[in-house]
Amino acid sequence: MKKRIVVLGGGESGVGAAVLASMKGFNVFLSDSGTIREEQQQMLRKYGIPYESGTHTRSMIEDADEIIKSPGIPDDAPIMVGIANKGIKVISEIEFAGRYDRAKKICITGSNGKTTTTSLIYYLLKNAGLNVGLAGNIGKSYAYQVATENYDYYVLELSSFQLDGMYDFKADIAILTNITPDHLDRYGYNMQNYINSKFRITRNMNREDCFVFCDDDPITINELKKIVLKAKMLPFSQEKEEKEGACIKGEMMYVNCEDDQYTMYVKELALEGRHNIYNSMAAAIAAKALKISNEVIRRSLMDFKGVEHRLEKVMTIKNVLYINDSKATNVNSAWYALESVKTPIVWIAGGKDKGNDYQPLFKLVKERVHTLICLGADNRKLHENFADKVERIVDCSSAREAVELAYRYAKAGDTVLLSPACASFDLFKSYEDRGRQFKAAVREL
Ligand code: ADP
Repeated sequence: MKKRIVVLGGGESGVGAAVLASMKGFNVFLSDSGTIREEQQQMLRKYGIPYESGTHTRSMIEDADEIIKSPGIPDDAPIMVGIANKGIKVISEIEFAGRYDRAKKICITGSNGKTTTTSLIYYLLKNAGLNVGLAGNIGKSYAYQVATENYDYYVLELSSFQLDGMYDFKADIAILTNITPDHLDRYGYNMQNYINSKFRITRNMNREDCFVFCDDDPITINELKKIVLKAKMLPFSQEKEEKEGACIKGEMMYVNCEDDQYTMYVKELALEGRHNIYNSMAAAIAAKALKISNEVIRRSLMDFKGVEHRLEKVMTIKNVLYINDSKATNVNSAWYALESVKTPIVWIAGGKDKGNDYQPLFKLVKERVHTLICLGADNRKLHENFADKVERIVDCSSAREAVELAYRYAKAGDTVLLSPACASFDLFKSYEDRGRQFKAAVREL
């Protein structure tokens, strides 16, 4: 009898996994308790894959030999309890697709900087003329591409939820950008669970594989003291000197990998801000490990345009620069955004608070922010934390209002920074929606 695979979740990753499973000859069923987008339904019909939406029929699900669970479904969702009781193996789309993919895999995880680093590495590999795909938490699903493309390399952005369902998958180069508290609601409010999840990116790695990590990140370093990895260790740091890996000395960035060196001026990097020096170093190490030429690395790091909603410069109006950093959905990423802006700041922040501790921002806010515009359904926590640290604090409930207020209070030479430190779901569909509304409002000024 054919092995039965049930896919839970009919989004990009679930539908991709279903397509790959059906092409590999499994008996496939997809189930989503919410609505499945029309274009995804069309894809399922095209491949003749049976599915249901709006409900989970337990009898159809609990007879699976293996379940592929989409990252958005928490382990304690009602449907998962029955599956756990039956002892059915649950994996992620990435684990499943990895079984059929012989490409070299460069995998990126971390609390912040994943998308930027992933996109930069993809850009580097493309510029080097390699036959490379981009997938994971970004763009088209990995499984769908494994089903329909034939790449020699993949650059994969992996969230902790994807890593949780990974067992036999192996990265050739694994990059851990950093670890700061995030998503703790999904990890029993236990930081160690979240750390363990991130470190799953190193599973199965051998001597010839590379582990790239931030040597300035106390949580990563502390964890590395407790475990032994076979992989080649390639740290990056802005504080220490590194023999292998990357570091900063004076105005220069140095990358060393197997007696091969690459250097450039930090100021030549296209991506600005201290956090982006980390991201650029991580990308450069990966490129060196893949033996990409220094010339291609230099050109790529100098030309990269950045990713939408990440410290994205929108425009300058009356000598005030407007920056869209809507993707900064936690305190740490907002810290790096505030740190990277050297002018006085009108800061637009707020939204759905995921249990934020704002303390790390106090010093920077006192020094640089004169006006805080709170853009959230409930702004009390921002008031409690920042009312005594800024000259002015005002509330609003739409991107347009926020931009109009910012325009009113910003002086020539200031920067208006949307870097919310919070999720967007209270007032917007997503961080992308928040960023686009912000940009549209700026362009209408
Ligand atoms: P992710 O995909 O991990 O959410 P992104 O690359 O999309 O990360 O960046 C999200 C936000 O995090 C950016 O807007 C920026 O403010 C911040 N950020 C980016 N890289 C780093 C880093 N290495 N360390 C800390 N913060 C970062």
